[in-house]
Amino acid sequence: VPLVLPQFLDRAVNLYGDKKAIISENRVLTYGQLNERVNRLSHGLKDAGVEKGDRVAYLAPNSIEMLEGFYGVFQVGGVMVPLNIRLKPDDYLFILNHSESKVLLVDQDLYHLITPIQDQLITVEQIIVHYKDDDTDELGYDEWMIQQSGDVFARVPLDENDVCSLLYTSGTTGNPKGVMLTHRNNYLHALSSMHHLRVTDEDVLLHVLPMFHVNGWGSPFYYTANGATQVCLRKTTPDTIFEALEKHKVSVMHMAPTVLNSLLQYYEKNTPSIEQAVRVIIAGSAPPPAFVTRVEKELGWEFIQVYGMTESTPLSLISVVRSHLKDLPVKDKYRIKSKAGISMIGCEVTVVTEQGKEVAHDGKEIGEVITRSNNVMLGYWKNEEATMETIRNGWLHTGDMATIDEYGHIDIVDRKKDIIISGGENISSIEVEGVLYDHPDVLEAAVIAVPHEKWGETPHAFVVLREGRSVTEQELVIFSREKLAHFKAITGVTFVNELPKTASGKIQKVVLRNEFWEAAG
Ligand code: ATP
Ligand code: MG
Repeated sequence: VPLVLPQFLDRAVNLYGDKKAIISENRVLTYGQLNERVNRLSHGLKDAGVEKGDRVAYLAPNSIEMLEGFYGVFQVGGVMVPLNIRLKPDDYLFILNHSESKVLLVDQDLYHLITPIQDQLITVEQIIVHYKDDDTDELGYDEWMIQQSGDVFARVPLDENDVCSLLYTSGTTGNPKGVMLTHRNNYLHALSSMHHLRVTDEDVLLHVLPMFHVNGWGSPFYYTANGATQVCLRKTTPDTIFEALEKHKVSVMHMAPTVLNSLLQYYEKNTPSIEQAVRVIIAGSAPPPAFVTRVEKELGWEFIQVYGMTESTPLSLISVVRSHLKDLPVKDKYRIKSKAGISMIGCEVTVVTEQGKEVAHDGKEIGEVITRSNNVMLGYWKNEEATMETIRNGWLHTGDMATIDEYGHIDIVDRKKDIIISGGENISSIEVEGVLYDHPDVLEAAVIAVPHEKWGETPHAFVVLREGRSVTEQELVIFSREKLAHFKAITGVTFVNELPKTASGKIQKVVLRNEFWEAAG
């Protein structure tokens, strides 16, 4: 039996046909109803000329349309190209042409981002807008679905090594690259994730991460396979999230640390009722250590950190404390939980020096994280050179620097590109940020390298203060000197109202570096 993703939907339909599959605003679909819509969509895509291997792009927020889009596209043998909803028209032009997408499905509220570039699309033959039926004279998406040949669809035969998605990376460090993932990649990643994240049919997942990004992209598969319920919000702000938690008895959320931070702030200020403990799965960037204790103690939620990247579907490390370490002092347990952790099933992960030797398990020696697994991508779309640079001898070179401690837990120190080199010493921007997050007036912090005559580079912080608080640059510099080895302390601060972030909630240090250079003239 080939390991292909539509199997997950089949299982849910067979075993959980009448159960709630998805709740989006005021709409609810059972797995049976979802399946019928998926089949209609597949008919529509087939009529639009989508054949095996053709790319179908999606521009939509988390929604029923997005979830059914995955399975609808796979059934015709298509390749899903989810688009980040926060890009500019020119970015869409680049991705749509670069991916050579044939059909584009777009949310009504986002269509205006496409109209300016519509004339320049080279391969797109049809654009299907998710018009809400009563809002417009145009043919509504639901009406269009109803016109399709029927709610049963004869699937195009799939091989597990067929590409099923072309996901563009976040573009945190530069131009996004198209990552080719196969059905097998996604299938095995889903099996491993559902085990480690303990997904069951009792789960109610609130989608906080966008599905168009790899961190949000993978979860619909493993929650579908288990017959869990998925909840989508058009807007994910602390108030809508807390409201949804109560209303839908949510049991699990995946999010970036920046979002968790905003939930903590909101909670401390408004103390909304939280009846149910949820598992919070932190993905995408390093959470400051203080978060782990605050989440578990103040909110009573379980905190799980994972590590990964688009190129590995994404997950490969998880921050679990193995049972034989359960007797460690609480402090050490929290320390372990604030690290990226140990390999997930199916993934080999290690940290190597430039000479390719594994670093000492001493929590000190720094090397690059490399991984070899079923989750590793086929390659970058139309970029053989970057593929060869990234996957060498079967190992994916992540560009992330890390240490391994005596228990074998991997701790991400920094991205290679973000490390600060001061007087010949490596400084982790993440470590410095962690200290700033301990300051009572600091809401958010991001640290970058800035040039220094004597030391080469020194750490400089961009800081957002908590509402109504004030602190001076000098005070923060002194605070960091008290808590860190002096060479790691920040040498300057730029106060800002907000930090630039990607759609998945990551802080874009490239933008900060540009801002710093502009300000420096
Ligand atoms: P681009 O490759 O376009 O610059 P990106 O690397 O941010 O963007 P993603 O694939 O979404 O795109 O992100 C993967 C990266 O996120 C990892 O390489 C790593 O730097 C960071 N990351 C993910 N999980 C963690 C974690 N638990 N701790 C620290 N960093 C993490
Ligand atoms: Mg990357």
